[in-house]
Parts: sequence; structure tokens; C-alpha cells
Amino acid sequence: MTTKTLIGKANQNFIAGKFTNGQHREMEVLSPQTGEVIANVPMSAKSDLDQAVAAAKAAYPAWSGLTLKERVQVFYKFRELLAANIDELTELVQLENGKIEGEARAEVFKGIELTEFACSMPQMVNDEVQEVSKGVECRTTHVPVGIVASITPFNFPHMVPLWTIPNALVLGNCMILKPSEQTPLSGGKIAELLKEAGLPDGVLNVVNGDREIVEAICDHPEIDAVSFVGSTRVAKIVYARATSNFKRCVALGGAKNHLIVLPDAHVEMAATNIAASMSGCAGQRCMAASAMVGVGKIDHIVERLCEVTRSIQAGNNLGSVISKEAKERIERYITEAEAAGAKVLVDGRNATVAGKEGGFYVGPTVIDYVTPDMNIAKEEVFGPVLAIMRTDDLDEAIRIENSSDYGNASSVFTQNGGLADYVMERVSAGMVGVNIGVPVPREPFPFGGWNESKFGVTDITGKSSILFWTKLKKRTTKWNPDAWTNWMS
Ligand code: NAD
Repeated sequence: MTTKTLIGKANQNFIAGKFTNGQHREMEVLSPQTGEVIANVPMSAKSDLDQAVAAAKAAYPAWSGLTLKERVQVFYKFRELLAANIDELTELVQLENGKIEGEARAEVFKGIELTEFACSMPQMVNDEVQEVSKGVECRTTHVPVGIVASITPFNFPHMVPLWTIPNALVLGNCMILKPSEQTPLSGGKIAELLKEAGLPDGVLNVVNGDREIVEAICDHPEIDAVSFVGSTRVAKIVYARATSNFKRCVALGGAKNHLIVLPDAHVEMAATNIAASMSGCAGQRCMAASAMVGVGKIDHIVERLCEVTRSIQAGNNLGSVISKEAKERIERYITEAEAAGAKVLVDGRNATVAGKEGGFYVGPTVIDYVTPDMNIAKEEVFGPVLAIMRTDDLDEAIRIENSSDYGNASSVFTQNGGLADYVMERVSAGMVGVNIGVPVPREPFPFGGWNESKFGVTDITGKSSILFWTKLKKRTTKWNPDAWTNWMS
């Protein structure tokens, strides 16, 4: 399939069921694997957003008026379309994001799982009814919030939009999706498939753009809720701006995930899981292992970890990072740490891939003897780089984890259940694991970090998201005229 056929119209805005050009400037989208231009995408103006909001408002009465069981019918069909188009969707993720085939395919599979979860909403969203005093009944009903927006990052261009679209729409909302301008194509394809599945025009609209359109979303008086996934810097801006405009908001930010490794850890399991966690998706996962704290004598684990890491090769079983700027930033962190005294055991700088010399590749990198004060130990690198710190004291390892501003994920590697519990109880992260490099909770469990990795009350997926995408109406009724008068009457 040629790139042009693959993309179709997915690089345009999608408003009221039609692909349309924006009314503003355009930006080039590059293939991170080759550096070549693959599409132009509109950097929409506020007038584009106004049109999308008007389309969503026009669709809202009929869509929100359907029952939950009626709305999920569209998503049953959508799930089948995702499965039928899995090769094309995988290729698109690879093209715009630079992942290897297996990772892109796994992302599309995850999109199917998210859709299946949304299809189970009728079994999950149970309203409560109780006779609270004689003849008087109280009942809660989940009502959609209204017109909502979802702003998404580059690293999972297919999956992160599907964190929000199925749940929000099944629960009766109409949405504006603003994909990352670096990876706008998968969002357009999702809109196309949802239309084919029978989603009424205007229920989902895609407005492409950058900062300008995000700010317009936060300010728009007719948008009721904003979900955001991206860096902490922007999550703070979006959360502050959306909530100061009296919208509900959940904003997921960046991460610095710590793995605490004890000497009794199963060597093969620890080495393979840690290497996969730090290098998978080229380290561009908010759940990626980024810092490892080894407690005591762990040389044998580091040695095996380096062997496994050396078998991971850019362009083969490791994809590219998103841009030239990202490659330069990641390599700068490595060079700075080395200059500050850390020891680079596996060096991924200056990686190139034959035939793809214009691509943005960084090889997997392991750096030992990093100290907690170094930038590489504190900041989000977002590349295939593992910084190893060492201590002889488990409580010190926990203190290092706790000192991070972030709090997305943390894992401990040990075969001692008591110590694993000790660590899990004390680390300050929303998603914790034992002997697992990427402790992602799967549906129906919710996804969301703590501290500066998430702003807002609910999580973004799973059961917790039901509270974000709905508001509760509380009804009190008395139909029995014989029920006596009491203080509630
Ligand atoms: P980003 O913050 O640069 O961009 C995210 C979105 O914000 C994009 O749609 C972008 O157009 C918009 N944006 C960028 N700058 C803006 C500004 N100044 N004002 C308003 N909007 C702006 O993030 P990214 O580089 O696309 O994605 C990588 C980041 O996302 C990493 O920090 C990663 O950890 C994080 N992430 C977090 C999670 C999570 O669940 N916590 C999941 C995925 C990615």
C-alpha cells in the first residue's frame, strides 16, 4: 500500500462527519524512521474549533438521548472494524510514530481491548435505588457531561485516543479529539472507522493543531470537560486553564519510573523485563523503566541486563524516537551523565540504520553509577536509556523513588514476598508492580499515576473513568399518597 493510500484523508480535520481542510496554516508530518515528509496537517484556528463544537452540540440531543445499550451497538461494530483493519492500522502507527511492527500491532490490540471494555458499560453502570423513608425513593442516574475534549500525545497515537473515545461516547458525550500534531493520522483513521460503524455525524470530531487549538479548547465556553495526556509541563498548563474556566479536567503528565532491584531477584526474569521496559517503544512510554535502584550486590543482574540490552538493535527490534530534537535531547542526557562521572555500560549514541540514514534512532543505553542529584536521575529522558543508581539500604532506595516529582509507576524485583510488599506499600506511584517491568493495569482496572504524573481526581480509563465522563443526577420520588408526611415531605 502506498503511503498516500494508507493515509487517505486521515491528515485532515473531521467535522460533522466530513473530512475538511483547516482554515489556518499547515505543518509537515515526518516519518521518524526516515525523516521524510509523509503528510501535511492543518494547524487549526479557533473558527475550526467553533465548527466542531457546533457539530457536537447539534449531535448531542439525539446521541445522549439513546440508551446505553443502543449506543454500545456502534462500538460492537467498531471493534469488528478495528480487527478487520488491523494491518492497515498497525502500518499507520509505524509510519507516523516509528515503532517496530510488533509494538504497533500491540497498540492496535490494546485499542480493541479498550473498545471491548466500553461495550461492557451496560453491565457496569448500575444506577442505585433505595427506599430511604416510607414511600420515598432515592435514585442516582449517570448523565453525560456534555461536549468534551480529548487532547493526546505522540507516543501512542492509536491507543491513547481510544483511552477516552469509546468510554466518553458510550456514556453519551460528544467529543472533540485533538491528536498530537506529530502523529495526527491514527486519530483521523479512528474517526473514519467510527463513521463506518454507524456513529452519527458530529458525535466525534477531530480538530488538528498545536498549542493555539489546545488553549482554545481550554477556553471554549461550550466545552464541559477536558482530558489531557502528555508532558507534565503542558498538563499543568491545561489543568490550570481548563479548571479556571470551570471545566472538569483530568490531565496525565510525564513520568520517571523507578525499578528497585534486590540481589535475590530472578536474574533472567529481571534482566529481560528491565531491558524490555526501558527500550520498548524506544523508551517513549510513560510506563517505561527509566531509573533503576540496585540494592546491595546486584552486579550479576547488571551484567545479564547488559547482555540482553546488546541484543536490542535500532532498526531491527528497536524503533526510532519521534524527532531529531528528541534524539539530540536523549543523547545530551547521556553525555552529561558521563561527564558527571557515571559509567556508560551500553552506549546507544550515534545509532544509524542502513538505508534509513535520515531517521531518528538512539540505541539502547545502560548507564551505571548514576547519582540521585544528576539530571538523568531526576528528569524524564523519554528514550531507551536506563540510569542505574546503587545503595546498600532498601529504605534509601525507597527514599530515592519517593524524592521524584513524578509518580506514574514503580516496580520491585525480588523473590521475597515480604520485601515486595514492604516496597509496594512505600513507593509513591499510582501503578506499582512486582517482577514486572511495565505494571500497566488492564481493563477493567483504571490507568493513572500520582504526584506530577496526574492532575485531577479520577483516572483516565477503566471503571474510574465512568465518574469523569458522567455526572450524577439524584432523584427523590414519592408516588404513594398514603405515605405519611414526615420531615422529608
Ligand atoms: P506534549 O505535552 O508535548 O504534547 C501533548 C499534547 O499537548 C499535544 O496534543 C500537543 O499538541 C499539546 N501541546 C504541546 N505543547 C503545548 C502547549 N505549550 N500548550 C498547549 N498544548 C500543547 O507531549 P508529547 O511530547 O506529545 O508526549 C510525550 C509526553 O507524554 C511524555 O512526557 C510522556 O510521559 C507523556 N505521556 C504520559 C502518559 C500518562 O499516562 N501519564 C501517557 C502517554 C504519554
